Amino acid sequence: MSNPENQEKIEINSSPLLKVINELHLKYKSLTEGTLANYIPELAKVNPDLFSICIVTVDGQIYEVGDSQQLFTIQSISKVFAYGLALEDHGRDYVLTRVGVEPTGEAFNAIILDEQSKRPYNPMVNAGAIATTSLIKGAGATERLNRLLDMFRRYIGHDVFVDISVFTSERSTGHRNRAMAHLMLNFGMINQNIEEALDLYFQQCAVMMNCRDLAVMAATLANRGANPITGEQAVDKRYIKDILSVMYTCGMYNFAGEWAYKIGIPAKSGVCGGIMAVVPHQMGIAVFSPPLDSRGNSVRGVKVCEELSQRLGLHLFDCSGSQI
Ligand code: GLU
Repeated sequence: MSNPENQEKIEINSSPLLKVINELHLKYKSLTEGTLANYIPELAKVNPDLFSICIVTVDGQIYEVGDSQQLFTIQSISKVFAYGLALEDHGRDYVLTRVGVEPTGEAFNAIILDEQSKRPYNPMVNAGAIATTSLIKGAGATERLNRLLDMFRRYIGHDVFVDISVFTSERSTGHRNRAMAHLMLNFGMINQNIEEALDLYFQQCAVMMNCRDLAVMAATLANRGANPITGEQAVDKRYIKDILSVMYTCGMYNFAGEWAYKIGIPAKSGVCGGIMAVVPHQMGIAVFSPPLDSRGNSVRGVKVCEELSQRLGLHLFDCSGSQI
């Protein structure tokens, strides 16, 4: 839990949040480093100048700046939520037999499994996410997809759709993910029909949202699983600690350790250029800016979160207080 001293300052003084994100948007707009993800052909077509920041507090206040209505596919950020659904479907003990909770220090798409257990290392890397998605219950592909989409609806408060072009683009080029699924089938880590599991994984990655939706989802996790706008319980609150723990240790690809050290809050990024961060019991933060660094994290997104964490005193282990 964050420092109560910081929490009090932010609650009393919530309007400065808008001022801070406006300043950060202006400051980092001119930062044009990074490259678009191009291994999924459709993602390479995105406008690299798009940039938005949004904060949603657990009492439902929304602060946003930039292209916050622009839709994009959430890619890896979906892994967090699919993990929550798999936990609800099977419980912690069973899910742990299929997917570990150990950071890899490797790239998100590394083809590695734990030597002894043959489990993928964690649900935030591709192998672990494919195994997680294969656990989602449903009588057939359509029901499984509908359960996933309905889960996203609870988190953001309105219906979501899959971007068919991005889904098809990844489905026809995702050979690496297909290879991982075959490896896991070989070791009995996936039982389901592989193509169906992969399709569902590619579909969850191609779910479209905007920056505000992403911040509402983060705020829902910050708010013990209850959407702060609609009040609906999106996920069983028993699993919030599981979800936030793996986000904290594994959510930012092979930058996760440095992120935890410097920024100090659970987060997840995606190759779409989105980053979602959770300040437990306080707020959800989302940044969208497509150009990525060499590890696959949004360049502007990392900078914005780093400065937000410093200025608002968000690091979970920081005792020095907010600077606004
Ligand atoms: N759909 C992407 C993949 O499986 C997601 C990767 C990501 O955002 O990290 O490669």
